[in-house]
Amino acid sequence: MHGPRPHAPPFLKRLAHAPNLAIATLWADLLTQEGFEATVQRAFASGIAGEIPPDQALPEVWLVDDSLLEAARARLHELQHPRTRRWACPRCHELIDGPFEQCWNCGAMAP
Ligand SMILES: [Zn+2]
Repeated sequence: MHGPRPHAPPFLKRLAHAPNLAIATLWADLLTQEGFEATVQRAFASGIAGEIPPDQALPEVWLVDDSLLEAARARLHELQHPRTRRWACPRCHELIDGPFEQCWNCGAMAP
């Protein structure tokens, strides 16, 4: 359903390059689930096909509805830069996992 297609219809908007097909498919699926219908296209699949082997052409994620482009870009940025991280509380030295800006143990702010 979201597999690579040889030609991108003109109304699609390119959203992002992906480092490989698995990640491109993951992004497209997550965006589609959230209402930003997206498909995976092979970069360079048309035009200069034959010069670049298919497995060396980077996949791209394309958005179907270009009116959602800005919102989809913002959402994709969040997917690419998850806020989950680990930090040690400067006050009580508790290790904090996840998108928390405050220590759950003593209430100190993240460094
Ligand atoms: Zn603490």
